[in-house]
Amino acid sequence: MKIIEGGRGKPWLSRLSLRFPTSSRTMPLGFAAPTERKPVIAYVGLGANLGEPEKQLTEALARLAAAEEVEVLKVSGFYRNPPLGPPGQPWFVNAVAKVRTRLSPEELLRVLKNIEQAMGRVTRERWGPREIDLDLLLYNGEVLSGPDLTVPHPEMQHRGFVLVPLAEIAPLAWHPVLKKTAAELEAMLPPRERECLEKLT
Ligand code: AMP
Repeated sequence: MKIIEGGRGKPWLSRLSLRFPTSSRTMPLGFAAPTERKPVIAYVGLGANLGEPEKQLTEALARLAAAEEVEVLKVSGFYRNPPLGPPGQPWFVNAVAKVRTRLSPEELLRVLKNIEQAMGRVTRERWGPREIDLDLLLYNGEVLSGPDLTVPHPEMQHRGFVLVPLAEIAPLAWHPVLKKTAAELEAMLPPRERECLEKLT
């Protein structure tokens, strides 16, 4: 199991006995294969509010840990929080994972989207309810802007459910656009963004 640190007192860790098949990849000519690249650190945000959110986060973490060229180094606590979007939705459970990977940001995003798909995520309205949502928050201190991927995640600095778990596991994680650490960004949140979070584990 590729979970390196953290996890003490975290119920998801003891349930990570499932192994998931990983897809084989082919590399286009002219690109370095992931195994030839240096590993980098990235942070992934996880959230769910349909079904059994804690179970789904646990499963998504297991799938992430089982993906080729991805090691889950650390996982934050799970935080319950009220939904942003349309009224009447169940509350979300959110967490953040620190990973070490040789994948490019686009490849890592593909892994995240494949996990969402494998777990039966249905495309619904923006901000709507979801079985599982995986976002690439930070990647190796890089700034990326493309049609399918923006890093750092453009909304992360506004969200308590991202910054609180991120600052918990990586207070010094660097936001390369805002030039602030996760702990500094967390301290800048409006108090309500922190007060509405309920730590589960
Ligand atoms: P979501 O609703 O969170 O699943 O995101 C919808 C789309 O946002 C995805 O299909 C991605 O192509 C795009 N996207 C852009 N930047 C990011 C990012 N940093 N993390 C996750 N998705 C992203």
